[in-house]
Amino acid sequence: MRLRKFFAAAVMCVTLSGCSQNPHMEYTGNFYAMNTVMTVTAYGADAEEAVKAVSSRITALEKMWSVTDEGSEIFAAGHSGGAAVPISTETASLLAFALDISGKTNGALDPTVYPVLNAWGFTTGENRVPTEDEISKLLQNIGYERVQVERDFIRLEEGMMLDFGAVAKGYAADETTAILAEHGIDSALINLGGNIQLVGSRPDGTDWRIGLKNPLHEGNIGVLSASDCAIVTSGNYERYFVAEDGTIYGHIIDPKSGYPVDNGLLSVTIIAKEGKLCDALSTALFVMGAEKASEFWRENRGFDMILMSEDNELIVTSGIADQFSLSVSQNAPNIKILE
Ligand code: AMP
Ligand code: MG
Repeated sequence: MRLRKFFAAAVMCVTLSGCSQNPHMEYTGNFYAMNTVMTVTAYGADAEEAVKAVSSRITALEKMWSVTDEGSEIFAAGHSGGAAVPISTETASLLAFALDISGKTNGALDPTVYPVLNAWGFTTGENRVPTEDEISKLLQNIGYERVQVERDFIRLEEGMMLDFGAVAKGYAADETTAILAEHGIDSALINLGGNIQLVGSRPDGTDWRIGLKNPLHEGNIGVLSASDCAIVTSGNYERYFVAEDGTIYGHIIDPKSGYPVDNGLLSVTIIAKEGKLCDALSTALFVMGAEKASEFWRENRGFDMILMSEDNELIVTSGIADQFSLSVSQNAPNIKILE
């Protein structure tokens, strides 16, 4: 793996200017779940109760899907010694969705990548570079096509494991939107560790303005004006480690090679109605690289995207181009609009 330039850890940051100042109408809840800080700001009479309901719902999802919690359904499926284990309808449905995207992206998204991810230490925080031999052995336990689901039972071959890390936050954001709607909230900003979901527009009726963090430097590379959609970014700059030789290894793994993705992309942002679709595609298209991601967009549509590459190019799809403005003047990237 070639040496990559060190770039600072960066997460998508949120611009919240121009919000209603009425304290009775606005409630912001911060909580920690799914290994990240989550912030939900809702506007409406029932905002506080709504955000508290969201927090308990996401905690329940985490309990079901944590890869490390011995009580989770995902853990049970990966430690059954090859036996079938019961799963909830909700787990079965998210799994079916993830496997569908795996098929459509030719395995770029693979919810069975966990054994390799674990060897790199991304789950324990004790990062290390596995040997090629170790990786090639572990790759034998990876393959979304081999997951067997029958009604509410799942069977994984011994050695295989599941990980919803690439889709769970997106699903949780969709759930959050539904809970807020049940509480009559029609304006909210949901930020689940960088997975953004916009409910309606800002209380004054204008679009939300979401800053896209520059993966290479402090600050934003640009700002997206949008409402009523999800905006999800994947990149290896979010969670990574630096090996002794200075090589940077990120947390998104190419399931074919077993190595962290290193294809010239810095980040992939997906914009669409549904959070889980954005989440699944941001991870998958990051694995695929700029060329295949562009091809995928042309063939499938139904979403917009912004690809940032190491050679200072931004690929922006035509559906979102008018809503995106650059925030940098120096060393500004070349923007290529994908039609
Ligand atoms: P995201 O931040 O949504 O791009 O998801 C990244 C997380 O998904 C990682 O931290 C892993 O838990 C998991 N992951 C890494 N690579 C893949 C992959 N190729 N397919 C599915 N999940 C992955
Ligand atoms: Mg994802």
